[in-house]
Amino acid sequence: MKKKKLSKPSAKRRKKRNNASYIVILSLLFMAIMAGVWIHQTLEGDLGNNAAANIGADYSSAQEHLMSNSALIANIEHIEIIALNNTDSALEGSVLSFVAVIYGTGSRGEPVEPFRTSEVTIEPSFYLPNLQPGSVVIPASGGLPGTIEVLVGYYGIRKAFTYTIKRQDYTSLGPSALVNKYTSKLDINARPAMTTNVNGKEIEARAGEALMQMIADAKDEGVKMYLSSGFRSFSLQSSLYDRAVASSGANQNASAPPGHSEHQLGYAADLTCNEIVEGHLTVEFEQTQAFKWLLANSHRYGYILRYTRENIALTEYMYEPWHFRYIGEELAFQYVNEGWRSLEEFLSIPREAF
Ligand SMILES: [Zn+2]
Repeated sequence: MKKKKLSKPSAKRRKKRNNASYIVILSLLFMAIMAGVWIHQTLEGDLGNNAAANIGADYSSAQEHLMSNSALIANIEHIEIIALNNTDSALEGSVLSFVAVIYGTGSRGEPVEPFRTSEVTIEPSFYLPNLQPGSVVIPASGGLPGTIEVLVGYYGIRKAFTYTIKRQDYTSLGPSALVNKYTSKLDINARPAMTTNVNGKEIEARAGEALMQMIADAKDEGVKMYLSSGFRSFSLQSSLYDRAVASSGANQNASAPPGHSEHQLGYAADLTCNEIVEGHLTVEFEQTQAFKWLLANSHRYGYILRYTRENIALTEYMYEPWHFRYIGEELAFQYVNEGWRSLEEFLSIPREAF
């Protein structure tokens, strides 16, 4: 899905003012400030009933709107919530986005243009709700599958909608499985049903077939690359993770905790080439011909660049130009052609293929 740019209240929507109306404007401004404070308190009040939610966000954008548009929408009639990437269900670990549209009338009851809030994004995780202005996420049950309720409050009118969060079945999902820091932990013994060897490294069989073809086709065009890391067991991931934490601290964003790596699924390929000293996985890889070729062609083989500069906040991993994820040709084409930003968002669309 393409991300929509949502407009802030624009200057053209403001009415021309004359000198005589200054008193009225000042009064409205005062009321707007009071209303903003009141909303803030209302939302904090909501949190009092909801120990699991964590409201780290400020309400500046809602208050900004109140300041500039209070003369436009004075009486709220209803709030519509538009889910941008889903209707009523999501996979664990996926990201949900929505906007609220506020309908109402002006101070003299005149019709006014509805106001669209800026986009609100939440991660339907029961552990770390990533709250944005105006949202409260309530886990209705403690585990998966479960539901969350999102409440949007504005001028004291509140509207709720509910998502069902489904637990993933890794074995049946195949290459469309989503694994990240928030999905349920892969079993200590989980490994791909079948693997194959690509330049001496093990990788899931289908991903490996596609990868061998990709490496061969690139070579035909004069671009060389090789697989540095494919399938990794839980225990190998565990030692890599411990090492990363020992050297960079608990908040490091390079190595996945054991049970949370795509490499354990067998669908991740860390690629490098001879231009990189000792094949180290570094950001310099993006300067190579191999990376440029992959960026243009990898989706034809079912691979996508998983951790980009644009999705760091969503994935909570550093930019990794070497890490390509196999999701199958059909999904990879769709992902690239539709301009998706992250697998978290992409896989949250309900899809029969699951
Ligand atoms: Zn990797």
